[in-house]
Amino acid sequence: MATVPTLSYSSVRAYLECPLRWKFLYIDRLPETPRGYFSFGRTVHSVLEELLRPLVLPAARSTSEKESQTTLDDFPGSSGHLTAGRLRSRNEMLELYRTSWVGDGYTSAEEERRYRQLGEEILGKFYDVVCLSPPSPIAVEAHLEATWDGVPVHGYIDRIDRTPEGGLEIVDYKTSRELTSEDAEGSDQLALYQVLVEKNYRDPVERLTLYHLRSQTPLSVPRRARPALSELHERVLTVRDGIRTEAYEPTPGRQCSRCEFRGICPEFKEVPATERDRLKELVDRFDALRAEEHRIDGQLARAAEELHLAAERLGVHRMPGSRGVAIRRREENWRYPEDRVRGILAEGGQWEMRSPLDSETIRKLLRDPNLPPEVKRRISELGSRDVRWYWTLEDS
Ligand code: SF4
Repeated sequence: MATVPTLSYSSVRAYLECPLRWKFLYIDRLPETPRGYFSFGRTVHSVLEELLRPLVLPAARSTSEKESQTTLDDFPGSSGHLTAGRLRSRNEMLELYRTSWVGDGYTSAEEERRYRQLGEEILGKFYDVVCLSPPSPIAVEAHLEATWDGVPVHGYIDRIDRTPEGGLEIVDYKTSRELTSEDAEGSDQLALYQVLVEKNYRDPVERLTLYHLRSQTPLSVPRRARPALSELHERVLTVRDGIRTEAYEPTPGRQCSRCEFRGICPEFKEVPATERDRLKELVDRFDALRAEEHRIDGQLARAAEELHLAAERLGVHRMPGSRGVAIRRREENWRYPEDRVRGILAEGGQWEMRSPLDSETIRKLLRDPNLPPEVKRRISELGSRDVRWYWTLEDS
């Protein structure tokens, strides 16, 4: 079994999208192609982090799985009454933006100029929002780690705020063009952050927010409920087990159009020129054999149908040929509406836990001498039968 690294949201998403791409990124450590919008996002995130850092009032954290708790008095220089520091001026923030600029991956100087301008606009508006209604962060760009029911996970969380009710709000900035409430409702990223925050802080998470920076719109949803977290945990386990067993099959899909590893991916990698002619012949031969196979399959089906009609007409099951005997066999499959069968069994009480109820199980059940005859009758009436005739050949 392979060792599984601590999983982040991006890593889980990458594996679920394509295990082979995950391997290229996390095992082979192949570099990703720089892209302008990633560089832009990184720059804006780093400025927001530095802008709000002076406002952070650290909160008490759980220091172990046993939830032992630090208090405000444990923070250096604190007498239990922490006060926030000074917000940078707008000009200081914009100067920081200029010096932090990451210029990798832009396709042209014009594109980079447009992004620079967009960043200034976004940050200017964000600054206005912060002055008007300052947040109460307890952490910015927080790196949190935890073990989630046996799986080590981690994440960098843009911001964790104290809510007026005394709980916590997780805020994730998005520089993307479009963002909707559905994105926040279905975000696995926010759900995983909720797990991380609740395992690292004693206070409960109350809200999860995707913050759309272009429109300065917080899209907030309530904390994720347990069933949704269980579903996410299942996905995390799928990834954990896949990595453990080194399951790295390529999964082609829409993501391939932006995958930088197409050149080395078996799904897209080209056959070397030296092998092309030989393999072309092999593929053509395979193609021709396939066509022949389909033609023969069609002929076989028609011959079997003719034999069947003759067998029906004459009332026989065995037909001699020159070298062998064709023998007609019967196969039947029963189908039952599982919900209705389950309902009938549940009425009897003791059958409630039977699961799963496939057709074979139900057929066995109908032969069970302990099942009351009335129940058997009701279930039998629900069954429908598919009959298939087929032919075998035996030496004469
Ligand atoms: S090209 Fe597609 S299938 Fe191949 S590694 Fe990339 S995402 Fe996976």
